[in-house]
Amino acid sequence: MTTPVAIELSPALEKIQLPSDQDATGRELGDDEMVQLAAAIESGTLTSTKGEFVKRLEKNFAQYMGSTHAHACSHGTAALHTAIAAIDPEPGDEIITTSITDMGALTPIIYQSAIPVFADVDPLTYNVTAETIEAALSDRTKAIMVTHLFGNPCRMAAIMELARGRGIPVIEDCAQAFGAEIDGRKVGRWGDIGCFSLQQGKHITTGEGGLVVSDDADLARRMFLFINKAWGYGDSKPDHYFLALNYRMNELTGAVAVAQLEKLADFVERRTRIAAALTAGLEDLPGLCTPAVDQNARHTYWKYCLRVDGAKFAGGIDGLARGLREREILCAPRYIQKPAFECQVLREQRTFGNSRFPFSLARPEAIDYRREKFPGTYAALASVLVLPLNEKYTDQHVSYVVDAIRDAANQLYLG
Ligand SMILES: *Cc1c(COP(=O)(O)O)cnc(C)c1O
Repeated sequence: MTTPVAIELSPALEKIQLPSDQDATGRELGDDEMVQLAAAIESGTLTSTKGEFVKRLEKNFAQYMGSTHAHACSHGTAALHTAIAAIDPEPGDEIITTSITDMGALTPIIYQSAIPVFADVDPLTYNVTAETIEAALSDRTKAIMVTHLFGNPCRMAAIMELARGRGIPVIEDCAQAFGAEIDGRKVGRWGDIGCFSLQQGKHITTGEGGLVVSDDADLARRMFLFINKAWGYGDSKPDHYFLALNYRMNELTGAVAVAQLEKLADFVERRTRIAAALTAGLEDLPGLCTPAVDQNARHTYWKYCLRVDGAKFAGGIDGLARGLREREILCAPRYIQKPAFECQVLREQRTFGNSRFPFSLARPEAIDYRREKFPGTYAALASVLVLPLNEKYTDQHVSYVVDAIRDAANQLYLG
């Protein structure tokens, strides 16, 4: 598929190690987290049912978001599962989602007996749009779940107009988009529920963790219950009201999250500044495009993506990626490699025993993954080159990345 090409570093380019979000080089975890964590341990209460830290996190996050309700949970995947459970689909109901997202956004749909129906994406932003969602609607559509991919907000005004017009609730997967805004409104505040992840590589982290927000008291109550085995804590006659799991965040995680949340606005600021510097340094390069961001949008750059015209570079997008990797830029061509529906679990409908449930209940059209239905998805994946980025990038790191990309691109450019 790709021709190996000799890639020589320009003598002027002195290789450096970039900070990584997988360890201390690229994460700001230190005294502030230690102080909170020590206080949690000293309290002797490590469960959020009795402790103070997760409650404080929920209060502070609701305030950060401007939402009425926030609940913490164990993972981003748990947050999305909690949101879907609150919507309470009937078996075989359809939830419209995106073909380019994390599997943690999809498996919860199936666990709640619903069918993920994939909307195509815009090949420039990699996000679903009102138009692609509309093409996936049916009379069985129970909810719409959008992912603000890489931190770039979906065009929510049009999506909400479509959804509200049909009375369909919207869940926003904001796992990659803390602090992102469109038309002056934060993502996670447009739909009925916003979901976030605190996994190692996200804007803020506790290793693992999740958050949900909502302004709807009934949905928020159901989410609180779903996280707590549906046990009615504080009720006069509590019981386990419905099928639910223990998805609670523990106090140790809550303590670290309280400290991380204090830094979020600063991290978002830094990421935005770093990305602007990358764009300024790269936008004139032929054969590739810097991120497509709407005028009215604030992209908060979980990752920084280049859109590459593979035909313009020796070895195509893989050749360019190899050139960058040789220069210590650990980039990922094609992001998740293939659309979500081509993953084994969805291809084989390998779910509960051999039942294929809930796909056994699906309309044929809802699980028709023919290539021609997804031109935007295939175009997006073929051209996207994902570059790492984190809050610890200094000006020196940024100029190195710019110089290294220019060096590799110039050498491989075919004209
Ligand atoms: C990370 C991520 C998730 C899953 O979150 P976890 O905390 O890893 O379970 C879901 N959706 C998107 C878009 C993500 O990036």
